[in-house]
Amino acid sequence: MESDTQTTKVGVRPATEFADITLDAKEPSGPIEQRWDKHRFDMKLVNPANKRKYTVIMVGSGLAGGSAAATLAELGYNVKCFCYQDSPRRAHSIAAQGGINAAKNYQNDGDSVFRLFYDTVKGGDFRSRESNVYRLAQVSVNIIDQCVAQGVPFAREYGGLLANRSFGGAQVSRTFYARGQTGQQLLLGAYQALERQIAAGKVTMYTRTEMLDLIVIDGRARGIVTRDMVTGKVESHLADAVVLGTGGYGNVFFLSTNAKGCNTTAIWRSYKRGAFFANPCFTQIHPTCIPVSGDHQSKLTLMSESLRNDGRIWVPKNAGDVRPPHQIPESERDYYLESRYPSFGNLVPRDVASRNAKQVCDEGRGVGPGGLGVYLDFADAIKRMGVNAIRERYGNLFDMYQRITDENPYELPMRIYPAIHYTMGGLWVDYNLMSTIPGLFVIGEANFSDHGANRLGASALMQGLADGYFILPYTIGNYLAGSTFDKIDPTHPVCQEREAEIADRMKTLLSINGKRSVDSFHRELGKVMWDNCGMGRNEQGLMTALQRIPEIRAEFWENVRVLGENEDFNQSLEKAGRVADFMELAELMCIDALHRSESCGGHFREESQTAEGEALRDDEKFSYAAAWQYNGESSKPVLNEAPLTFEYVHPSQRSYK
Ligand SMILES: Cc1cc2nc3c(=O)[nH]c(=O)nc-3n(C[C@H](O)[C@H](O)[C@H](O)COP(=O)(O)OP(=O)(O)OC[C@H]3O[C@@H](n4cnc5c(N)ncnc54)[C@H](O)[C@@H]3O)c2cc1C
Repeated sequence: MESDTQTTKVGVRPATEFADITLDAKEPSGPIEQRWDKHRFDMKLVNPANKRKYTVIMVGSGLAGGSAAATLAELGYNVKCFCYQDSPRRAHSIAAQGGINAAKNYQNDGDSVFRLFYDTVKGGDFRSRESNVYRLAQVSVNIIDQCVAQGVPFAREYGGLLANRSFGGAQVSRTFYARGQTGQQLLLGAYQALERQIAAGKVTMYTRTEMLDLIVIDGRARGIVTRDMVTGKVESHLADAVVLGTGGYGNVFFLSTNAKGCNTTAIWRSYKRGAFFANPCFTQIHPTCIPVSGDHQSKLTLMSESLRNDGRIWVPKNAGDVRPPHQIPESERDYYLESRYPSFGNLVPRDVASRNAKQVCDEGRGVGPGGLGVYLDFADAIKRMGVNAIRERYGNLFDMYQRITDENPYELPMRIYPAIHYTMGGLWVDYNLMSTIPGLFVIGEANFSDHGANRLGASALMQGLADGYFILPYTIGNYLAGSTFDKIDPTHPVCQEREAEIADRMKTLLSINGKRSVDSFHRELGKVMWDNCGMGRNEQGLMTALQRIPEIRAEFWENVRVLGENEDFNQSLEKAGRVADFMELAELMCIDALHRSESCGGHFREESQTAEGEALRDDEKFSYAAAWQYNGESSKPVLNEAPLTFEYVHPSQRSYK
């Protein structure tokens, strides 16, 4: 496979229709703690009176898109904001439970900007860009102030100070939270700021409107093609710059903790217009989800990582022990994370916790139906702090668990198992969050930027809001101030062509009239991905997937059955388009996973592990972000290696022992 892959080093241009694209991360130089300040000073500004002359398209109204849209409008830009839900208030960000990191050091327990930076680079297994991560840690402290000013009700201690808890991969308590509903409360803050700008006429909000293509004119992103999900109308929207805050693509696996609507369409179609896709195989498997209970399921439920602050993870010491948990004495329990990783215990990072759960289950020591589960036990915490303290911290999560499993976690340990949760891969962006298409910016989970091969818990909300409130509003001004824009309108031939292509695609999907539902293809694709490109990956499995995925795709285009019509609210049609994109993305993920023969973070190549079963990196060969370039329907994508250098956190074998 490797020899088949066309590779270019940074700056060498492959001969494709996107030949003028090069990778330049545009990282500022100098001491890392001064880079962002220096860059902000060096960037061009748009003066306040000129801001109202520019229009920015914002696709997405989650924490990244919503915060960015509100901030840009507050600055004076005109914003057109799009989402596929019926309200920006329903973006997937609302599901985030556990918390948001910030290096405030309120606990006086040794935290600092440098420590958050260090933990994030190490947690990402040395596959992220140092300058970006340092900036993220720096602005994390502003996020909390911003959100408190908006009225976000973070948990407080008795004396009124903001409370913190711990998340995986850190030995300090730096996670701010609002019970188990942090995402909801943060989104309400961003949403109110957005609504204020909608009322002020600075943001035009398009709900139930799905971006289906990107308009690139003269090499720059100038707009999007959308479909009105209620009337089926396809139209072009034009602007001076386009921002994607469209979230992650974990639903390629069918079963995941993501909201059912999360999809890859916006970034995938932008990839096909020339935006490079970086590290698509870097996906995160979260260790604490409610185990799969059968083939009927279409969604998995997360039990927040915050539960690992007080819950203890264990399995029986002996394989095949099917006694109920309370009948298994202490001496016959294996608190395997505590014994294997005494420094971090139950709070090891997600990739490590997930792999260990899989390992004990593979040894036949898993619990619950099918043996695919481990216990998360609160008995000790309840004994120590009392049931009310636990209810106060995690009440809504416990209720959710009980409603789904019909077991009372105050009395019985929860059963949990790893599940797909987050995608570290995404569109490649430079330090300004701009993709390889000038004028196309990508923020939040949709970009690849800050988490390397494994994201630490509570860092996604931090990144989305850092991008939206504090980074993009500067960097987009630099782009706008340095460019001139011809006036264009939707009669432009590129708009006409793209609109016709979308209308054709809808017609084709509706006319196939085959025998299988969209979901049946999605479910099959998800199983191939989970089995071969999931928690463990190996060459043979990936080759199998690469053979099978094109077959599933071919059958889809011959045998899918999409009911209803275009000129109506038609969820089957919406899904069909998204699943078609997932099938293409799945192939790129496997190509990426196959080429990266090292293990790092969540990408565990079984051929590359230490004697103790930990991920074994190959820094000499793979210290780069793999930025894939679309090369046409019938050609293989081109691999561009964007090197990563580590001046401040030196790559070492990650240890949480
Ligand atoms: C169950 C769960 C719990 C989590 N808990 C935490 C946590 O405690 N802490 C943490 O840091 N992270 C957590 N995460 C991760 C975090 O929630 C997400 O990474 C983050 O919210 C993503 O925000 P976003 O703004 O990038 O995308 P999203 O919130 O997914 O928003 C995407 C937006 O893009 C729009 N969109 C997408 N495609 C299109 C299109 N084609 N056309 C038009 N609009 C489009 C959508 O309508 C939506 O408005 C959790 C994730 C899950 C699944």
